[in-house]
Amino acid sequence: MTLDLHTAESIPETVREEIQTLLTSGDLFRYHAAEGSAVTLLEQEFADMLGTRFALAVSSCSAALFLSLKSLDLPKAARVLIPAFTFAAVPSSVVHADCVPVLVEVSDNYRIDMHDFALKLTDDISAVLISHMRGHTSDMDEIERLCAEKNIPIIEDAAHSLGTTWNDRNIGSIGKIGCFSFQSYKLLNGGEGGILVTNDEDVIARAVIMSGAYENNWQKHDCKSNNFGKYQNQLPLYNTRLSNLSAMVVRAQLAEIPRRIADGLRNHDLLADILSDNRYITVPSPLKGEKRAPDSIQFNLIDVNDETARAFVSECKKIGLGVSIFGLHVENARAYWNWQFLETIPDLPQTKAMLMRACDLRLPARLSVEQVAEIGDMILSAMKRATKSKAA
Ligand SMILES: *Cc1c(COP(=O)(O)O)cnc(C)c1O
Repeated sequence: MTLDLHTAESIPETVREEIQTLLTSGDLFRYHAAEGSAVTLLEQEFADMLGTRFALAVSSCSAALFLSLKSLDLPKAARVLIPAFTFAAVPSSVVHADCVPVLVEVSDNYRIDMHDFALKLTDDISAVLISHMRGHTSDMDEIERLCAEKNIPIIEDAAHSLGTTWNDRNIGSIGKIGCFSFQSYKLLNGGEGGILVTNDEDVIARAVIMSGAYENNWQKHDCKSNNFGKYQNQLPLYNTRLSNLSAMVVRAQLAEIPRRIADGLRNHDLLADILSDNRYITVPSPLKGEKRAPDSIQFNLIDVNDETARAFVSECKKIGLGVSIFGLHVENARAYWNWQFLETIPDLPQTKAMLMRACDLRLPARLSVEQVAEIGDMILSAMKRATKSKAA
């Protein structure tokens, strides 16, 4: 069988007619119409879904992270804590906002090491950016408690965590600002795009203006904030807006979210179960309080050396399964030592050890349980061949 783990789901047929009308009118710019643009509707629906007062749709999650930092009005060269296990776009957005990322150790369960977090949350930290990498949620209660003590704002990078909950609270709505991605590999596929959510009137006013609501265009936002006038002409315009076409494509998928979450979790847990009996594989459990919405699986190789780990990846590849190990792939953008645009790259032995053994595999919600079971067999057989003739 050839298993396609990369192709996205089709954009729902239901929106094709609406898109055709949009294309005919040529009305792609969110601020062209006086009200009710697709982007504005998406913002309203997304805020309602997350349970936040405000949402601002933009061109990417990276843009949302950048605007989040900018909207907090941090001092120049402000130090921002981020987990060392994340995608290169995250430290990049911190650098882009004239801030300095400070990397925190991550445990072998992919979540922030709370001991290192507490140590590094010193008085010179201006903000904390929690990246819920691959949808893995760190201990948000403890993070909130520690940050509240020092009055440090939390930004959530929930790019890949839509649908995840923490003690029944929506991930992305816990921090002062939450950011999501509509890039094609995330739960909602707009090709590109992102959105930030917040309850804070100053944050939304500043972010809306900086996203490119020039002149009086902020009046076209459905935001009950009185702060827009105060910031107009006071802030730079970074023009990171979303187009109506992207917004329409994303809106059409909102109704698919519950199915994608349920099937993604079913597929993940089934595969985790199949793999859990193997002595060379462990799949870390979610934290108590965390309900996941995965569309990929991560698992660690244990008691194997680099050579066997590489052999496992190549055995998987031979049978058409694109398993990668974050740290063994020379160019991986999720290995912090590859972030060579940073002024200094710290040594983080715990995160590094995890990255050298953590496997990553896409697991789309559209797969059937039979296909997932087959993937399980394929992984186990690849492991058998990788560990056969060698001492592990
Ligand atoms: C995809 C992703 C991003 C970047 O999102 P873009 O919309 O491509 O900018 C940031 N953080 C995480 C955890 C991601 O998975």
